[in-house]
Amino acid sequence: PIRVRFCPSPTGNPHVGMVRTALFNWAYARHTGGTFVFRIEDTDSARDSEQSYEDLLGALRWLGMDWDEGPVVGGPHAPYRQSQRMDIYADVAAKLVEAGLAYESFSTPDEVEERRRAAGQDPKLGYDNKDRDLTDEQKAAFRAEGRLPVLRMRMPDQDWTWDDLVRGDVTFGREHVPDFVIVRGNGEPLYTLVNPVDDALMGITHVLRGEDLLSSTPRQLAMYAALAQIGVGDGSTPRFGHLPYVMGEGNKKLSKRDPQSSLNLYREEGYLPEGLLNYLALLGWSAGDDLEFFSPTQLAELFDLGRVQPNPARFDPKKCLAINGDWIRHISADDLASRLVPYLVAVGALDGDPTPEQKAVIDAAVPLVQERMETLRSGAEQLRFLLVDEADFVVDAEDRERVLTEDARPTVQAAYDALAGLAGFDHASVEAALREALVEGLGLKPKLAFGPVRVAVTGRRISPPLFESIELLGRDRTLARLQAALA
Ligand code: GLU
Repeated sequence: PIRVRFCPSPTGNPHVGMVRTALFNWAYARHTGGTFVFRIEDTDSARDSEQSYEDLLGALRWLGMDWDEGPVVGGPHAPYRQSQRMDIYADVAAKLVEAGLAYESFSTPDEVEERRRAAGQDPKLGYDNKDRDLTDEQKAAFRAEGRLPVLRMRMPDQDWTWDDLVRGDVTFGREHVPDFVIVRGNGEPLYTLVNPVDDALMGITHVLRGEDLLSSTPRQLAMYAALAQIGVGDGSTPRFGHLPYVMGEGNKKLSKRDPQSSLNLYREEGYLPEGLLNYLALLGWSAGDDLEFFSPTQLAELFDLGRVQPNPARFDPKKCLAINGDWIRHISADDLASRLVPYLVAVGALDGDPTPEQKAVIDAAVPLVQERMETLRSGAEQLRFLLVDEADFVVDAEDRERVLTEDARPTVQAAYDALAGLAGFDHASVEAALREALVEGLGLKPKLAFGPVRVAVTGRRISPPLFESIELLGRDRTLARLQAALA
């Protein structure tokens, strides 16, 4: 049975690249009927934070990715936070040393560089395996100087090759993989140890992760071989697949620090989780047959590793937005109405849950904007004018200046007169009355006729359809706003 894992370190905000990795693992597990393990790699107490940990859980939940084993849900390999597994790592490290597979190393980075230089070599080549065979006396002498040893893996003398699930054969020559540190001088175990140890103990069969970790793989292959020798895990090695880089603006790698890579941004702007998830799935994978719109369930049905591309994927914010717009049009009006509520609160149109009257207005107005919004926030902004108290209603300053000019006064006055005397107030009567008064009466082109009315009653040049908006707003509020525009 297939077992995959998503194992982020809880630092900073959840970002697009990280979530794409989670998604591919989730989709692969769901596609194969396997197990999706969520593990928190929080061994770096200086950088990890509880807030980030909570945000990670929140991000996966928001996107609708459930995990089979991990924080909160537990599982047979609990605990799933590495900070709670320190005894395990200390024990494995001791066994590696005992078996001669790891050793104490006292050289400082400066000393290594100096030795490389003295030998006429590139100092950047890294560690020179010098401390492999220190005698007890030599170690004691270093200790007497107050040095604390790190633990290093003793790398077998071989090149490293694997058949990558995305990239095919990958090889690293032995000269690129010197003995590496697995435990710091202060006893802190490093990623190089804890990640493969947990993958082995948790029975991970497929490691799908970003291409930035490609160079860790030879070391992990060596660690797996060592763990098999000391009986940690079942002795098998997982398959590795390295997911392509995600490129941002200017064809540069999308970095954590790019504002457009922050997941929070998409939540705040009002992307639907389905829309964002749909777009993220296309970063390095394709469904084939030009299919670009799919639900999480369809994704799980379709997702296979054969169509993960090795070449970099471009993050295209416009396309992401367009897919989100497609999703907004795809869900039901009722569903959209309830998803809009938090955004209506955020834009100041509601104080909290809507009253029954407010709910009726929202329900009636949603069909007017569903086709015209690409995010929940933009939808909420378009609906704001219907829900705010007259005292809080403001006309956009720029739109006022451009559209509600002196020249527009007669238009607004004529609209006021026409609507004040109108018998019914449904949108058809409103439209007929305004056309008669402004287009026929004043001889204006429709755009010039209705622009000032739109800005006066909705507060913006971009709004839901005008006559329907006026009907929903009702006579009193419409007239009050027209009057205010004349004042
Ligand atoms: N904790 C590592 C990271 O966040 C996990 C890398 C891996 O998937 O092996 O980069």
